[in-house]
Amino acid sequence: MRAIKAIVNLAALRHNLAVVRKLAPDTKVLAIVKADAYGHGLLRAASGLEDADGFGVLRLSEALALREAGYSQVLLLLEGVFSIDELHAVAEHGISIVVHNEQQLAMLETRAGELARPVSVFLKMNSGMNRLGFKPGSYQSACRRLQDCPAVADIILMTHFATADDDQGIAEQLAVFNATTAELNNPVSLANSAAILRFPEAYRDWVRPGIMLYGASPVAGSSAASFGLTPAMRFTSEVIAVQTLEAGESLGYGARFTASQTTRIAVVACGYADGYPRHAPNGTPIAIDGQPTQTLGRVSMDMLFADITYLPNAKVGSAVELWGETVSVDAVAEAAGTVGYELLCAVAPRVPFKVIG
Ligand SMILES: *Cc1c(COP(=O)(O)O)cnc(C)c1O
Repeated sequence: MRAIKAIVNLAALRHNLAVVRKLAPDTKVLAIVKADAYGHGLLRAASGLEDADGFGVLRLSEALALREAGYSQVLLLLEGVFSIDELHAVAEHGISIVVHNEQQLAMLETRAGELARPVSVFLKMNSGMNRLGFKPGSYQSACRRLQDCPAVADIILMTHFATADDDQGIAEQLAVFNATTAELNNPVSLANSAAILRFPEAYRDWVRPGIMLYGASPVAGSSAASFGLTPAMRFTSEVIAVQTLEAGESLGYGARFTASQTTRIAVVACGYADGYPRHAPNGTPIAIDGQPTQTLGRVSMDMLFADITYLPNAKVGSAVELWGETVSVDAVAEAAGTVGYELLCAVAPRVPFKVIG
């Protein structure tokens, strides 16, 4: 069998959750486990994050899987419900919902009499990101309508920051949110990972960490390690062949690398069909037997190439880390022109998982 594996470290998840707790000790933590827990596996990751006060997911099926597995915490559907059937199900199973548009609000009002129980609502404000939520001018009236709606148990006020990770920061959106909610006494949820790491003024009642729980950085130019985070995933494989190129010989599809001197190449059992980014250029970091080196040539469907010219002991069977502890997922992402989020989420279904810690 191919040696490729994604190894999820539950101790790292617990550690990263503890980092959030230490930064925001008086705040409840809604651990974001959407996208199959950023590629780590929903139930797998939840078992490392079981001390969280709640979990944020996208799909009803994910919330139901967590309930079924015995998680009694708050479970929040981050885009709310998409149909009346889903509204009935969340009421029955005690699942909280984001309400971000008029259609969802009206559905609660018209279906109130049919629901098994009142539902907890996170009312989302569009404070400047212009993705989901009520604009400030209509937010208070939406809140009043929810207060008057018998289908609603309680209301948490929420917004999401567009630029918590960069120089622009959160000041403008936070000012809009604070001004609009000044007269409301409900609990508040604002901060994603970048805001948790950079803006304590955004902690309030519930924080919503995602990427930092998995030990990757939300902030370009700042490593996860610099925030005290530990990678929760190691993506590993093995060398399955070794080639020696003489000067002038080329490597792989498109001959994207041509040797200028004798070059030893490891062929690694991992390709874009495993979730490795095809756009990773020559020079993307990778580790062989724990030694940092670089990829060469174009990534193919099932294989990629690593430079082992200066690793004379590397051979067929040598261990490869695509990302994890020696090579951060953020470093691979930066080389490939993307973010760690995308790489973690893209680990393919054909890759077997192993849990440690
Ligand atoms: C995904 C998401 C988060 C988590 O974001 P990170 O950058 O991964 O911390 C928080 N809140 C909402 C609404 C989200 O959709």
